[in-house]
Amino acid sequence: MCRHLGYLGPAVPVSALVHDPPHSLVRQSYAPGDMRGGGTVNVDGYGVGWYPAPGGPAVRYRRAGTIWSDENLAQLCRVTVSGAVLAAVRSATVGMPVADTACAPFTDGRWLFSHNGRVADWPESVVDLARALPTAALLTLDAPTDSALLWALVRSRLAAGEGPAAALAGVVSDVAAAAPDSRLNLLLTDGTALVGTTWTHSLWVRAGGGAVTLASEPLDDDPRWREVPDGCVVAADVSTVDVQPIGRG
Ligand code: GLN
Repeated sequence: MCRHLGYLGPAVPVSALVHDPPHSLVRQSYAPGDMRGGGTVNVDGYGVGWYPAPGGPAVRYRRAGTIWSDENLAQLCRVTVSGAVLAAVRSATVGMPVADTACAPFTDGRWLFSHNGRVADWPESVVDLARALPTAALLTLDAPTDSALLWALVRSRLAAGEGPAAALAGVVSDVAAAAPDSRLNLLLTDGTALVGTTWTHSLWVRAGGGAVTLASEPLDDDPRWREVPDGCVVAADVSTVDVQPIGRG
């Protein structure tokens, strides 16, 4: 069910996260180690977001299909250097479209967002949550998918002034209350803060040396990788990692 990662720290080639590690995101697309809740590979799409200039807007590249067959992306990632990256590979939930626009990262200005999981009983379970959004937000969803709606819900909380950790935790809490069997591992960055949730899927954190990485699966055998307990929101920057339980709505 999708794999994703986020990185903050010294500028690195994007390929140092996506292509090069022994258990890189590319490898996790065809040989993931900890898929839960259905799905065996992540071959329906992929995306990478980064910041060409610190403090500037994010750039996002995403495609439907298999990440390993995109040699253009591999070349791009070798020469693209950034101190903040969010990337994902997708296993489309049954019934959801396979299209570029359904792939993470979803973006708006400096924000990059990804979802690993599914909203249970989609879409009936979340009609009331969707109805509370401005109509324009619904008319401009990237795709008719659960992940795109989750991004609209997160954006609406950010626009109302909530911080990134509160916005993710609030959306998980609301959606889990409306659709209890949902899987809601969310990932969000603005290039300065990196925030993730664990809601029935795996998430690992590696911190140290002025860098932090959150990833569905460890990228290598570095002993600093720690698994994030389920039901939590992780808020990190290059010097701190804070893990808090998510209150149930
Ligand atoms: N449900 C989302 C989609 O279809 C995410 C899928 C996943 O995590 N495998 O795009």
